[in-house]
Amino acid sequence: MISNLVNGLSVASQSGNSQPVFNPATGEQVDDLALSSVDEVNQAIDAAAAAAPAWAATPPLKRAGMMFKFNELLGKRADDIARAISREHGKTHDDALGEVQRGKEVVEYACGIPSLLKGEFSRNVGPQIDSFSDRQPLGVVAGITPFNFPAMVPLWMYPVAVACGNTFILKPSERDPSAVNLIAEIFHEAGFPPGVLNVVHGDKTAVDTILDSPIIQAVSFVGSTPIAEYVYQRGSASGKRVQALGGAKNHMVVLPDADMQQAAEALMGAGYGSAGERCMAISVAVPVGEKTADQLVEKLVPMVEALKVGPADDADAEMGPVITRDAKERISGLIDSGVNQGAELLVDGRSLSLQGYENGYFLGGSLFDKVTTEMDIYKQEIFGPVLSVVRANDYSEAVDMINRHEYGNGTAIFTRDGDAARDFADRIQIGMVGVNVPIPVPVAYHSFGGWKRSLFGDHSIYGPEGVHFYTRLKTITARWPSGIKDGAAYAFPTT
Ligand code: NAD
Repeated sequence: MISNLVNGLSVASQSGNSQPVFNPATGEQVDDLALSSVDEVNQAIDAAAAAAPAWAATPPLKRAGMMFKFNELLGKRADDIARAISREHGKTHDDALGEVQRGKEVVEYACGIPSLLKGEFSRNVGPQIDSFSDRQPLGVVAGITPFNFPAMVPLWMYPVAVACGNTFILKPSERDPSAVNLIAEIFHEAGFPPGVLNVVHGDKTAVDTILDSPIIQAVSFVGSTPIAEYVYQRGSASGKRVQALGGAKNHMVVLPDADMQQAAEALMGAGYGSAGERCMAISVAVPVGEKTADQLVEKLVPMVEALKVGPADDADAEMGPVITRDAKERISGLIDSGVNQGAELLVDGRSLSLQGYENGYFLGGSLFDKVTTEMDIYKQEIFGPVLSVVRANDYSEAVDMINRHEYGNGTAIFTRDGDAARDFADRIQIGMVGVNVPIPVPVAYHSFGGWKRSLFGDHSIYGPEGVHFYTRLKTITARWPSGIKDGAAYAFPTT
């Protein structure tokens, strides 16, 4: 049974509620996850609150020492973490290692704690008056995370939050919880005091307890858009600061002058890597002009047909299974709807069966051409290995199409024309833009976040925006009078 981690200790849940955890490659149950009760979540919140004052008062350099150690241990244990991810998520070993590395980079960023928290100082803002500002921690903050990056997304949150002097409650996805517990153990091995990071597993009950808690000051959420919107509304209504990152439908525009081989290869990695279960996956290719579309599709078809699908321990596998049997059925259903609504299914991944893994949740890659913006496969986030080609007559039509979509997470343009690329970056209503880069996930010292219904709240996640999210500004104006006697002043103070 997978347990909570509260105050540095593994705590077995007494709630009586649990749910099975599966290996998506075999369909076998590999563990049981205890789902926390309201009281159990509140106990973790109390532990975080008890640890908060001492942690906020710990000198940043001392905190940085622990963060450096955490970073070192993450590097040493990356392989174990990647295996824990693949066992419950299904992604290939290399893909899981990549996720650990990108999460670790946020830890590296958080090692610069003393610099991140430095304020500003102005001397003589008035006669013998100095002013300085400081960013101070909020207290207890929380994170709620999705299944698709069980290591990286939590690492987007708590290293920055605890570096800023907060204590943290993490509620991971129920589907692949083991990597979170393993990393939390490594976190404590690095010397962080008990109560600084607490992991509570659970479902809606745990989430609602976090959202309603008067002790928790801020909530970071990453997951699907309906839940992101719910978390934002309920958390804000109870007076919290909330950043809630939601779903996506990422388009890649291919202009006629693009290197077609490069564009097709980029679409393969960005469309089918991790079985399409990435919020920055490209799920729509938008070739501009019929000739570009024909050339692109001609290159894509044999590549999609040749995709190597397999379990994580198959070194040749390029893509693993999807997360659950339900997800497999939902994706297959959406492919059916694409066919029924008139799209051309050029490669059909629905009937893939792998010898020895017949009960696994595998799907082959699917490729649609002649998709239109009215179809469900265009409007909805499929979150599976399905790429749709929507043909645009011209560049403006491609830009307008992307700007009209409800989601605004990522996008890319492939071209050799710098002028067009610059115009695209200016006009596109999307938070993260790639120019000849298909998955433009910002590095750890920038910040990650979409626009429109891909992010609810004012702050992107990690990097400088993360530091702002997990701190509040205080400005101190001070005078040390040496014999000044200016009497009471009733007018508004000026210099
Ligand atoms: P999800 O929304 O189902 O779950 C996310 C979290 O919310 C989980 O911890 C889950 O326990 C909790 N949750 C689920 N239903 C709830 C409910 N009714 N009430 C309260 N809490 C609830 O998302 P998922 O399926 O785990 O992850 C996939 C989704 O996450 C995709 O839509 C993907 O685009 C999105 N995602 C977005 C980003 C981003 O940065 N924008 C990154 C990764 C994933």
